[in-house]
Amino acid sequence: PPILAIESSCDDTAAAVWAGGRLASSVVASQRVHEGWGGVVPELASRAHQRLIVPTVKTALEEAGVPLAEVGAIAVTYGPGLAGSLLVGLSTAKGLALGLGIPLIGVNHLEGHVYSVFVDEPHPAFPFLCLTVSGGHTLLTLVREGFVHEELGRTRDDAAGEAFDKVARLLGLGYPGGPHIDRLAASGDATQFALPSPRITNHKSRSVADFSFSGLKTAVRYTVADAPEAAGMAPDAWLEANRADVAAAFQHAASEALVGALSDAVRQTGVQDVAIVGGVSANSGLRAAAQEASGAEGWTLHMPAMRFSVDNAAMIAVTAAFKWAAGETDDLSLGAEPSLKL
Ligand code: ATP
Ligand code: FE
Repeated sequence: PPILAIESSCDDTAAAVWAGGRLASSVVASQRVHEGWGGVVPELASRAHQRLIVPTVKTALEEAGVPLAEVGAIAVTYGPGLAGSLLVGLSTAKGLALGLGIPLIGVNHLEGHVYSVFVDEPHPAFPFLCLTVSGGHTLLTLVREGFVHEELGRTRDDAAGEAFDKVARLLGLGYPGGPHIDRLAASGDATQFALPSPRITNHKSRSVADFSFSGLKTAVRYTVADAPEAAGMAPDAWLEANRADVAAAFQHAASEALVGALSDAVRQTGVQDVAIVGGVSANSGLRAAAQEASGAEGWTLHMPAMRFSVDNAAMIAVTAAFKWAAGETDDLSLGAEPSLKL
């Protein structure tokens, strides 16, 4: 029977239907209420979810051609995320599960990102290496069948997506910054600025690679603060002339470090199936660097379609399909867990 999935962990209100072993629909309502605030305002996000959630669910069912009465289980993200946002999705999901008398399946948003590579074919075989690069997380894991995630590395400070957003702000670009940097970097020259690698190789711990994106962001901050004076230019004029090159240099440093860690992980584990997931996996520089490395080194790269890189409910639906098949359902007392880990 079809699974109806709901995702409301941050500022995207999303619903999807998984039916007959494939994705039947996926709808994401953009809130558009955070523009001009430079970030997500939690109170505005939960109010917008409240307004959008029922229409989004209805649209997902309509597009799938699945009547509500035929839905067999309700999947929902229960963490991590903003408490007030999660509660809107959870309450809606519980109401539907209770009303229809069908199971509720709680999904970890991060596990959803990991399983986003199963929305479309071809998908990886277990065990596979997975780099999760999103707004709040940067994590390298070995993913085994049965929802087992072995950590091989992580960021010690900022997440990759957070670094894209902060650097975008330093460059006077809008929020979220990732897509702006991506677009700008395409016309920039990455060799004009030398930036430090955000990779930390930790010989003592068992981790293949840790990251520090805060150092890279700080290097961009100093570059933007100091270079205009050295060049004898007004800051605004300097930024106008160099913005694309700084964006390209930042994107290059981030991509090289992330892909380098994956190459090392392949060498150390012998695992050949590799996935990159989460919002930053939409980045064209990262995608190109990963494709090049996988081709040159002979491993297999899996990335979700761009619309399943950023937050969506299709990834929640497919994760729930795995859980349901394994007999994992949840009680209606399931609560929001804002700082849930993988
Ligand atoms: P998390 O999944 O860790 O809880 P989140 O759900 O907010 O956080 P995602 O939606 O997975 O994160 O990703 C959002 C992040 O992805 C933002 O930081 C955004 O800037 C970044 N991002 C989106 N598109 C791109 C792109 N093309 N290039 C780089 N970064 C991007
Ligand atoms: Fe996310």
